[in-house]
Amino acid sequence: MTTPNMHYADLKDSYLFFHIARKTKAYLEAHPGTHLYRMGIGDVSLPLCGAVIKALHEAVDDQAAKESFHGYVSELGLPELRAAIAQHYRERGIGISDDEVFVSSGASDELGDILDLFDRSSSALITEPAYPAYVDANVIAGREIVRLASGRENGFLPSPDQGTKADIIYICSPNNPTGAVFSRQQLKEWVDLANANSSVILFDAAYEAFIEDPELPRSIFEIEGARTCAIEICSLSKTAGFTGTRLGYTVIPKDLIRKGMCFNDMWIRNRTTKTNGVSYIIQKGGAAVFTAEGQRQIRENIEFYKENARILMGALDKTGIWYCGGKNAPYIWLRCPDGMGSWEFFDHLLNEIQVVGTPGEGFGACGEGYFRFSTFGSREDTIEAAERLIGLLGR
Ligand code: PLP
Repeated sequence: MTTPNMHYADLKDSYLFFHIARKTKAYLEAHPGTHLYRMGIGDVSLPLCGAVIKALHEAVDDQAAKESFHGYVSELGLPELRAAIAQHYRERGIGISDDEVFVSSGASDELGDILDLFDRSSSALITEPAYPAYVDANVIAGREIVRLASGRENGFLPSPDQGTKADIIYICSPNNPTGAVFSRQQLKEWVDLANANSSVILFDAAYEAFIEDPELPRSIFEIEGARTCAIEICSLSKTAGFTGTRLGYTVIPKDLIRKGMCFNDMWIRNRTTKTNGVSYIIQKGGAAVFTAEGQRQIRENIEFYKENARILMGALDKTGIWYCGGKNAPYIWLRCPDGMGSWEFFDHLLNEIQVVGTPGEGFGACGEGYFRFSTFGSREDTIEAAERLIGLLGR
């Protein structure tokens, strides 16, 4: 009899968003016609910018004529897109060569697929609270998972200590769900640890474009020593509104070598075996993001979400509730007031002011007692939610 991958039976139900949907549905059934202020969504609400739409249309037209039609394109990404992304790094003083950039269909796909580069016996350290996919991808692979909890005492930015050891180390900065961002010095500690132990850091930079403080690193490769121990996974989902369009990129330095195996070479072999590349049309749209006009337009959208963040943070300031994130990230992570648990606070906000957020407990046990607001909602809802929060929780 076929033996399936029995590790699927070890997965916990992905109950978080299911549970939120169930509770909001029940509320709406009991209170028909009520408007809910959805501050929990992790999806963008603004459309793609004009430069991207124009490039997408042109690429569709390319496919309509024999002379400009493209069949299969490189599995590793369109050369012009890889070059534009590498140039984007180099403009910030980070030495990345074009062939160290791999175009992907998004960070989620890549976070799962990249595990092919590691032996099944390798262990994975996950700093929590964390994006749930890190744990699940490793459970499916049957890996040993080491959880490193963080908390308010370290600003949700855990440092390694003597005992911190694992083959794969996940770091997400700016973090989902906490919005916390590692400083250069804090990242250097992780880079030094990874080099000392011959570990590899998987650096999830899906929210790097939201960093406004010039002192904070937007890439792990701003840190000395990272080229020999890190892989960076990026996404255009939140940077440029590609959640439904799908595009991302991954940087694997040629200096990343373990046991004589070069991870960049291995990834070329992996991609050329397991994919036939990302859609030509979507890549052309993605390339427009890296033009001067594209950069200007995506910044306008990011600024819109940042203003939402300022509105919500302004409200929280008036309540005296502790929070982090929001300034350099599209998420605000707050302490539930009056010792409430995450789900208790969820119910409280839903029932009293019809505001929906995300209970922190869904991102790891250390998230219990915390709550996440996202800043991707509409301006009207954000303003009203902020006022309702002040009305309910203001001092
Ligand atoms: N990494 C983090 C931390 C995320 O929050 C998300 C999406 O919410 C992703 C990766 C996935 O991004 P993508 O849409 O590129 O798959």
